[in-house]
Parts: sequence; structure tokens; C-alpha cells
Amino acid sequence: MSFFRKKLWSIYYILLIAATLALILFSTLFWNQIQKQFIHEQESLTKITANSIESIFLQYETLLDVLGFQLSANNTYNSVHQTQKIFDHILDKKSAVLGFALARPNGVIYAKSSNLTHNLVNNLLEKEETRSTFLKAVASENMVIGRTYFHSTFKNIIVPIRKAIRSNENEVVSVIMSGIDLNRGFDFLKTQLDEYEKDIVLLREYDSFVQFEPHNHNISTYLKKVDKSFLITQLKEFDYDKIKESEKIYSFKYKTLFGDETALFSVKYIKKYELWAVVMAPYSLLYEQFFQIEIIALLIFLITSVLIYQLFKKIYLHEEKKKEQLYHQANFDELTSLYNRTYLSRFEKSLTIKGSKPFSLLFIDIDNFKNINDNYGHDYGDKVLIEASKRLISIASSQDILVRHSGDEFLFITYITDHEELRYLARKIIELLSQPYFIEQYNFMLGASIGIAQFPQDGSSFDEIKRYADFAMYEAKSHKNHYCIFENKIKNNYIKQFEIEQEMKLGLMKKEFYMHYQPQVDSNGNILGVEALVRWHNKNLGVIPPNEFIQIAESIGLMKNLGEFILKTTLMEISELQRLSNKRFKVSINVSVKQFMQKEFYETVLNMIKKFNIPSELITLEITENMFIEDIRYIARLLRKFKKHDIAISLDDFGTGYSSLNILKKLPIDELKIDKSFVDDILRSKEDLHMVEGIVSIAQKLNLDIVAEGIENRQQLECLEQMGCRVYQGYLFAKPMSKSDLLHFLEK
Ligand code: C2E
Ligand code: CA
Ligand code: CA
Repeated sequence: MSFFRKKLWSIYYILLIAATLALILFSTLFWNQIQKQFIHEQESLTKITANSIESIFLQYETLLDVLGFQLSANNTYNSVHQTQKIFDHILDKKSAVLGFALARPNGVIYAKSSNLTHNLVNNLLEKEETRSTFLKAVASENMVIGRTYFHSTFKNIIVPIRKAIRSNENEVVSVIMSGIDLNRGFDFLKTQLDEYEKDIVLLREYDSFVQFEPHNHNISTYLKKVDKSFLITQLKEFDYDKIKESEKIYSFKYKTLFGDETALFSVKYIKKYELWAVVMAPYSLLYEQFFQIEIIALLIFLITSVLIYQLFKKIYLHEEKKKEQLYHQANFDELTSLYNRTYLSRFEKSLTIKGSKPFSLLFIDIDNFKNINDNYGHDYGDKVLIEASKRLISIASSQDILVRHSGDEFLFITYITDHEELRYLARKIIELLSQPYFIEQYNFMLGASIGIAQFPQDGSSFDEIKRYADFAMYEAKSHKNHYCIFENKIKNNYIKQFEIEQEMKLGLMKKEFYMHYQPQVDSNGNILGVEALVRWHNKNLGVIPPNEFIQIAESIGLMKNLGEFILKTTLMEISELQRLSNKRFKVSINVSVKQFMQKEFYETVLNMIKKFNIPSELITLEITENMFIEDIRYIARLLRKFKKHDIAISLDDFGTGYSSLNILKKLPIDELKIDKSFVDDILRSKEDLHMVEGIVSIAQKLNLDIVAEGIENRQQLECLEQMGCRVYQGYLFAKPMSKSDLLHFLEK
């Protein structure tokens, strides 16, 4: 079956050729058959015609013989009177014989039937028309037929016949002559020929004149010689004299005697009277017969060809559609109709450094897409993806290639290489994908991060380019709704990050992590609490700052273990320090988003507090604003649960992210931390000063505590104090320190 599908058109052409050959074969056989039949019919007609003519003439010859016999008795022929009496007696009005005459061997006519009133000629030797046949009659033992002519008395075309009367010594004594009315004498032939639609000519071998042509009453036919050479040329392969002897019938194709039309000729020689019986039928007759059937065959052929063609076309189109569907299934993403990875791998394979056009790969990742899937279900997620892909299609040019890479990742391959244009394109894509998504009753706000790498300048294989675009995308993602063009620095960062990742996985086991504590004090330097800050010292990498490795820990799924380590160590050490120093102070613990969103986080915190027997009202959890990107209702619920246990919540890095007053009002927050970056510039920048003033006034309005961090000098402290800040953290008072250092600090 698959062979049939593959060779569909070849099979069709073979069928068509076979049918054409069959048609040609049929046509030739049919044509031959028709010709054969036609020739057969015509030849039998020729035979009948020739035989009939011969027997007619034989009849007349017998008549002349009888007359001759009567006239020879007692030499009656010498008596003109007696002769006329015999003539008149025999002459029958109804017969085609029109009259009789007698001539001396010297050509002089001396007796005739009484109906012949006046002579046309007196001496038959005088005129050429009569002379030769008369002499022939004198010389011949047989009846001789003269040239057909028009008789003015009878107003008839007449065929003359002559026969010599011989004495006992076989000497010609007289020639008896008669004339046959052409019209009446050959009647039966005419009717016969009419039936067959054929033409017959009786041609004289001796002088090439037409003896008889039943369809032609025009005397001119009989007055000129016919070019008889065609007989000789057409019959050239046979011996002309032998043919005459054989009396066989011959058929051939030639142009008709009285025109240019081609005709089928059948000829038979009537030896006794030296006449050719020539029967002709125009070829058009044959063609007519042939085409009557042929046209039906042709029609059947045409109709079946068309029908079979239509059938094959239908099968072909069906196959093409199936092929296209298969191609589509294989190369396109079912959900978005963008290209899929299979297509991508083909693109990848076709890539060569020298032969391929330079291109740029935009690795697009939709920000916060996971939220929709998790909180609203996959149906909504799918609809968002469809909408996002439509937006991408709307911005792509016909040459660009759009691929759904996985989940919410898209690849946008473009032949644009100019950085300025690429930036413009990336901005445009981010702008488009950040428009609200109206899906049924919901209105989702998403964003996109884009990483861009270029072939061949960034890498020689597609895989490499894709990896670098992915790196750049991660770089962009750390800023959200951003794009980033790949550069080697990014690669190095990733290599370093990879190294960190590997070391970090072992770091917890090897006890490379430990805690430092930075005191939070009042304006007099009295300790109110500490912030727990994690530290990592690796043998190979040295000391790695937490804002670097926390993010990595989150991305490689290590945050759960690291977070538990931080919680456990901090609570254990602080509980011990409080016992040793006999002082009560608060402890702030930083909680990362990933850690916070873990199901068992709440239980873990409560269990640890119980285990290390530390009053929960001394504990503050520091969260950051980027937490609010996640499901805000879940966060609010969780925060309220902590509140029930008197655990305080502090909003870290306040003012650097997207917090809105609205969120602040809704969430059970106890404390705002003014970020170090504002404090740094509070003396130099008016904007930062106003920012801090704003934060302080918000906190006061909402009745929240304020902690200012990163204070390094007195001026900053005074400035903050003036604004209404009461709790401070910074190098001015103390740097983060180890457990033992903190004990000294507490005892001071
Ligand atoms: P953060 O929570 O804003 O922590 C304050 C950072 O400012 C600390 O850096 C601290 O050492 C530094 N700092 C405080 N006062 C001064 C000052 O006067 N001058 C200067 N130059 N720096 C000051 P650190 O310890 O490197 O931590 C960086 C960030 O890493 C933290 O920012 C926090 O986001 C994260 N982090 C640190 N420890 C933890 C942890 O245990 N858990 C989690 N989830 N995140 C942590
Ligand atoms: Ca903090
Ligand atoms: Ca901070």
C-alpha cells in the first residue's frame, strides 16, 4: 500500500500509457478489420459487376451470331432488302438494341434496319472514332465493342457492337453492327451500384476510353481518353500481362479517376471484351464507418482517463493532507502551533559555521507563569500560553522562527544581528507580553525575561548558543521584565556559579556554614536584638557573600536544608547566649522566598522554637518585598498564623521593590527595615532623604517599628534619629560577629 502511495503518479502514467496503447491497438485492429471487410465487399461487387457485364455482352454477341448465321445462309447479306427484313424482324422495341447495320469489309455501310433513317457515316474507315474498332472487328473472331458515343437520332448514348460475318473459307464478307442504349442496357448495374454507394467505370484496355460509367450521363466523359497509367503503376509489382490473363481482382488505394479524393480501387480485367471493370469507393466512406465506432471508443477512453485522473488526484490530495498533518504533528507544538523541539533539532542539524546565515536567538521566559498554573489550573495556564504565542507571532517577521521550547519558554530566532535593533525587539516583546491577559473572568499580569545570544559570534553550535541565551535569560530574570545580551562575563559568572553549586552541595555536610550576628541597638548603643546572618567559608572558593550563594541555593533546591540549618543554629546559639549572658534580646532571622513558600516551613519554625525553648515573642522573621510576587493570600494567611504565636514580621529592604501601601495595610507586618542603600546616601542625596522620611512617616501612620540598617557614621545616625528612627544596625555600632564575639559584646 505504501508502495502504491509513493508511486501514485507513476502508476497513473503507466495506466494511462497502457490505456493509450490499448486504444491504439484497438483502433488499428478495427481499422484493418474495416478495410478488410470493405475490400472483401468491393471485390465481390467487382466480380459480380465484371461477370454481369461479360454476360450482357455475351448475350448481344449471341444475338449477332444468330443474325450472322441467318444472313450467311444463301448469302442473304448481299440482298439489302432481305437483310433489312431480317433486321426489322429481330428488332424489338422494348430491347436496348437500337438498330442493326451491315458494312462491307471496306467500311461502306450498305444495309440497315428501317428505323435507321439517315446515315451518320457512310464509310466507317473515314473517321478515327470508328476506323480502329471497325478494323479490329474485321480482324477479330469475337464481337468487338466500339467507342461509346452520342447518337443524334436516338438522342441516346450508345455502345456500338460489331462482329464480322465470315464465309466458309473464313473470309470476312460483311460486318454486322448494332448499338446498345446505354441507359437501358445496363440498368440493373446502376441499381446495384446505387445500393453500395460505389462508382464503377468500364475502361477500354485497347484505347483507354471510358466504355461505360453508369453514374455519368455527361457525354464528355466518353470523348476523352483516361490516363490509364495508374493501373500499370499501381499494379507494377505484378506482371501487367499476367494480370490480364489471370482475371483476378486487385485492390489498391488511389485518387479517384474523376477528382482528387482518395479512393479504394478494385479492378478486374474482362479478357474477352478487353475491358477493365473498375470499382471505386471514396475512402471517406471507410473513415465514416471507422469513426462511428472509434468515436465511442475514444469517448470511453477519455471519460475513463478523466475519471481515473480524478480518482488519483483525490487519493493524492488525501495523501498530501495526511503527510502535511503528520509533518505538522511532528514539527509543531500542539497547544500554540509554534514550532516544537523536533523542528528545532532539524534546524540545529542544518547549521554550519560557514554555510549558515548569522542569527540571534532570543530565549524568552514568562515571569510568574508558574503562579497561574499552580493557583488557577492548567486550563488557564494553557490559555495564557496561547495568548502569549499569538502576541509573539504578531511581532515576528516572516523569516523569524518561533519555537515553544518548554512550558513557558519560547525561542525567537531572528536574522537581526544589530544590537540596537535587537534591544528594540526585546523591549517590544517584553512590552507585548506584559500587557494584561484577559482570560475569562480573570485579568492576569505577567512579564517576560529575555536572554539573547548570537550565532556564530557567541558559539559554533546551536546547543551552545541556546545555553548562552539561557544564561543571559537568567541574568535578565534577576531583574524581572528585562532582557540581557550574552557576553563572556555572563559565561564566567555561570562557570563560577556552577562551581559554587558543586561546592555548596557538599558544604552543608562538611560544616562549612556558620552564623554571624549583628547587633541592633538604640541610640545609646544598648543592645535590643541581633540579626542572624549566614556565612560560608569554602576551602577552594574562600569566603562567599550570602547575597551570592542564597540565590544559588534557592535555584538548586538547597534552600530547604540551608534554611533549616540557619534556623536551628541561630535558635540554638541565641538560646545558649541568652542563658550565658543572662540577657533577653530579640533575634531577627532572614527568610528567603523559597523557604517561606515551603509547606512545612511553619511547622519547622514552631518545632525549633519549642525544641530550643526560646520565647517566641523574641523572634522576628525578615521577609522581603519580592515575596509578594507569590500568592499573596497564602502569604497573608501564613503571616497571621505566625502572629498568633507572637512571632514578629519585619519587611526587609523596604523601598527597593514593589511594595504598595495597600499590601502593607493588608499584611500583619510589625517592622520596616530601611535599606542600607538609602542610609548610605542619606546625607548626599535629597531623594534618598525624602525616601527615608516617607518610609518613617508610613511606619508611624501604620504604627510599625522602624529599623535602619547600614549606619556607618554619626551624621547618618543623627539624621535618622531626627526623623524618628529608634533602632539602628550598622558598622558604627558593630559588625556581624561570631557567637563568642557576641558574648563578649553582650558582657561589655
Ligand atoms: P540584609 O538582610 O539586608 O542584611 C544586611 C546586610 O548588610 C548584611 O550583609 C550586613 O553584614 C550588611 N551591613 C550591616 N551594616 C552594615 C554597614 O554599616 N556597612 C556595610 N557595608 N554593611 C552592613 P551580608 O551579611 O553580607 O548579607 C547580605 C544579604 O544576604 C542580606 O541582606 C540577606 O538578604 C542575605 N542573607 C544573609 N544571611 C541570610 C540568611 O541567614 N538567610 C537568608 N535567607 N538570607 C541571608
Ligand atoms: Ca535582613
Ligand atoms: Ca536589608
